[in-house]
Amino acid sequence: MTLTLTDETPPKGFERLVRAEDPASGLRALICIHSTALGPAAGGCRMWNYARWDDARHDVQRLAEGMTYKNAMADLGLGGGKSVILGDAKRDKTPELFRAFGRAINALNGSYYTAEDVGTSPADIAQAATETPYAVGLEGGQYGSGDPSPFTAEGVFQCLRVGAKHVFGSEDLTGRQVLVQGLGHVGMSLAEKLHAAGAALIVTDIDQAALDRAARGLGATVIAPDQVFATQMDIFAPCALGAVLNDTTGPQLTAKLICGAANNQLAHPGIAGALHARGIRYLPDYVVNAGGIISVAGEIHKAGPGYRRDRLAGIAGRVDAMLTRAEQEDRNTTEIAADMVKEILASANRNVA
Ligand code: NAD
Repeated sequence: MTLTLTDETPPKGFERLVRAEDPASGLRALICIHSTALGPAAGGCRMWNYARWDDARHDVQRLAEGMTYKNAMADLGLGGGKSVILGDAKRDKTPELFRAFGRAINALNGSYYTAEDVGTSPADIAQAATETPYAVGLEGGQYGSGDPSPFTAEGVFQCLRVGAKHVFGSEDLTGRQVLVQGLGHVGMSLAEKLHAAGAALIVTDIDQAALDRAARGLGATVIAPDQVFATQMDIFAPCALGAVLNDTTGPQLTAKLICGAANNQLAHPGIAGALHARGIRYLPDYVVNAGGIISVAGEIHKAGPGYRRDRLAGIAGRVDAMLTRAEQEDRNTTEIAADMVKEILASANRNVA
């Protein structure tokens, strides 16, 4: 075995940064633990063709910190961490590489749980899981959580209803114009729920088959991808790409509420203030899309279905509190959510002390 693990100096505020290299399999990976204040760190493994180690370092640190916030807000008893494998997800994958990765995870003795992320599949993580019990998001088995998308969609749906109560005075979505951008794993499931709740659906995607399904099965109005910000709507549900809300699109948006699954919806943090100033409520992506990690957490904790149901209801409850605070303090929801995370972490640190 040729696996070597090297502890690098983590940035201030981070707990651990480990470089894993295994020349025999070609593994080059970084594992970052941002915080274990609330429990062992959890977050997926991204495989990406980073040009340099420094690019991978920057990404894994940013993503690990984000997982601390997401896991804290979802009340999972888990901290934040992430891992990245340097390589081409189409060309460089082998079972040996993921088994070496699994041995690296195992060497951290349960301080970090890994799962799927961009560029890794359940089959890859299953290879890692042959070497460690700390690789989750598996299909099958007693606690295997499988595809997280239905849970993500359910969490977004529940938060969207809470948002509607605050913005329109009622959770009732009958006749509300909701634009779903992206009809993939999460977006299609969300669209089905919205249709069942009586919403007037508007959809867009670059995949014609998905659009046809939504038009035929859900009575959705189809628009072209470049027409999103020229379209009249009550609620915007971005479920495709990151950075859709930027300095150009933010001022054009007609929705009064934004609630969708896509990660990193704001091109930069200043967009949150600009939306707030226009009276648009933005529900932070990492709060409302936590259904996926809730599903994985159920596997980590070997919990029954009640665990996932309660945690999903919990994020909707937290969104309710966040919107109430935003209204009382006339501050944007991104700031309020960040304050709520700080309060949760501070109270955990007090309990440890
Ligand atoms: P997916 O790949 O299944 O779906 C994405 C959809 O967006 C596809 O149908 C694609 O054709 C469409 N799309 C791509 N470019 C587009 C464009 N320019 N305009 C309109 N549509 C476009 O992904 P997913 O699993 O449904 O995830 C959607 C988003 O939610 C991603 O940002 C993902 O990171 C995030 N997310 C997903 C989960 C989960 O459980 N799957 C959890 C948390 C966050």
